[in-house]
Amino acid sequence: MLLTITCTPPEDAAWPATDLGFLLHKNPDRVQAFEQSYGVAHVLYPQADAARCTAALVLEVDPIRLVRGRSRSTTDFSLGQYVNDRPYAASSLLSVALGAVFRTALHGRCDQRPELVRTALPLRIELPAVPCKGGPEAAERVFAPLGWTVAVTPLPLDPAFPEWGDSHYVRIELTGTLRLADALSHLYVLLPVLDGAKHYWVAADEVDKLIRASSGWLAEHPDRAWITRRYLARRHSLVRTALARLAEIDDTDPEQLDAVEDTADEFGKDSGTASPAAEQTTVEAGEPTASLAVLRREAVLAALREAGARRVLDLGCGDGALLRELLADTTFSEITGVDVSMRSLNIAKRRLRLDRLPERVAQRLSLRQGALTYTDARLRGYDAAVLMEVVEHVDPPRLGALEHAVFGSAAPGSVIVTTPNAEYNALYEGLETGAFRHSDHRFEWTRAEFAAWAHRVAEQHGYRIRFVPVGPEHPDAGSSSQMAVFTKATAETTDGATKGVAR
Ligand code: SAH
Repeated sequence: MLLTITCTPPEDAAWPATDLGFLLHKNPDRVQAFEQSYGVAHVLYPQADAARCTAALVLEVDPIRLVRGRSRSTTDFSLGQYVNDRPYAASSLLSVALGAVFRTALHGRCDQRPELVRTALPLRIELPAVPCKGGPEAAERVFAPLGWTVAVTPLPLDPAFPEWGDSHYVRIELTGTLRLADALSHLYVLLPVLDGAKHYWVAADEVDKLIRASSGWLAEHPDRAWITRRYLARRHSLVRTALARLAEIDDTDPEQLDAVEDTADEFGKDSGTASPAAEQTTVEAGEPTASLAVLRREAVLAALREAGARRVLDLGCGDGALLRELLADTTFSEITGVDVSMRSLNIAKRRLRLDRLPERVAQRLSLRQGALTYTDARLRGYDAAVLMEVVEHVDPPRLGALEHAVFGSAAPGSVIVTTPNAEYNALYEGLETGAFRHSDHRFEWTRAEFAAWAHRVAEQHGYRIRFVPVGPEHPDAGSSSQMAVFTKATAETTDGATKGVAR
C-alpha cells in the first residue's frame, strides 16, 4: 500500500524542495519504520533534491495482526478476514497510518519552516490503488472541489482478461497548489470515504474526529453529506449529529445536505458489500431540527415580504440556498444573485438545476460574478438587497467600499444584513474560545459592534434600521445570528424631517 507526495517548488522559490522533509518531520536522508497495530509504516524519499522531493509512505499490513486486533463481530465471508485487499489498497488503514506518522504535519505545525506551513505548495499526490466503490467519478467529485486537478484511472479486474471489465480500484493522481496540512487532511478524511469500509467500528467520537480533521473545507464541500455519511459508515444518528454541527458552526444547512445526499447516491451506491460497521448499524431516528441556516433564511424571507420587495438582489449568494427559496415564491419577480466566487455560482447553477428549470421560472433569475466592493450600475433600482452572512467575509479595510457600492450606489429600497453574533460563540461546543465560526471570516461582531456599524451606515446613506434576533437565544449572549433591516428613509416617508434618521 503506497502513497507518494511530491513537491516541486517554482523555479524562483527561495526554498529547496527538500524542505518537504521539515514539513513532514521526516528526514529525507533516512528510511524510517513505524510499528502500527496492523503492520509497519515506512517513510522514505525516492527522490530528494532542491528541485523536486518525493516522500513515500509504504504500509506493510500484516493481515493476521489485523484480524487479532479486531472486535469479535465481522460480517465478511468466512475467509474474508484473511483474504482481502487491505495489504494492497489505500484504504482506511492508510488514513490511520497517515494520521499517526504525519500527525504534526497534519496539524500544520513546523517550527523550522513556519512560513511554509502557511504557503500553498505545488504538490502532486499519487495513489496507485484506491478502493473506490462509487466508481472513478466519486474520486473526481470529492477531490476536485478542494482545488485538486484529479486524474483517475480505473484498474482492470485482470489485465489478461479485459472483457471482465474494471475492478472497483482506481489509480488517483492529484495535482494542485495547496497547503501541505490541507492536502493531508483531504487524504485523511477522504480515503476511508472512497473505500466505504472502515476496518474498525465507528464510535461516537468519530464525529469529533471528522469535524476536527475536515475543519475549513468539509462544510463548504458540495458533497459534504455524502462524505459525512460514508465517513461515519452510515450510522444515521452520528451522521445527523455531524451534519447539524457542520451546519451550526459553518453556516451550511442540513436540509440542503439531505437534498445533496439524494443525488450523491447516484455515485455513492455501495456495491452490495456491506462494511462491518454498516452491518452493525441500528437506525436511530432523529428529529430533524431547524438549523440556524433554515431559521436565518426564514427571517430574511419574512423581512423581504414585509418590505413588499419584488425585485431582489442576493449579494454574496454563495451556492444559492436563498435563491432557491426566492425562486419558489412568484412574488419575487426578478432575482439577481451576485458572488465573487465562480465556483460558488457554478454550484448554485447545479443545485438549482438551472438548465432544467421551465423557461418562465429560469427567466426570473440571473447570476452574476462580481465583487461587492466595486460599484456596478446594473445593480441599481432593486426593491431590496440581501447580504446574508457576507459582511464578515470582507476585510475590514474594504468594508467601506462595500458600504458605498451597496448602500450608496445600488441603493435599493431595503437592505437586509445578517451576520453571526460573536457573543453566542461561547455556547458552541467544539468552537475554541476566540475562534470564528468559519475559516474565511475576517471578524465576528458582538451585538454592540454590529449595531454601531449599522447605525453609522444607516445615517450615512439615509436608511432607517431595525434589528431582529435570529436563531436560538440566550439570556446573556443573545441570539446566535443577528439581522438588521435597513429601509430607505426617503422611500418610506414623505416627511423630510425624518429623512436619514436611524432609530
Ligand atoms: N449568502 C450565502 C453565502 C454566504 S458565504 C448564504 O448565506 O448561504 C459568503 C459569500 O460571500 C461567499 O459565497 C463569498 O464568495 C461571497 N463574498 C465574499 N466576499 C465577497 C465580495 N467582496 N464580493 C462578492 N462576494 C463576496
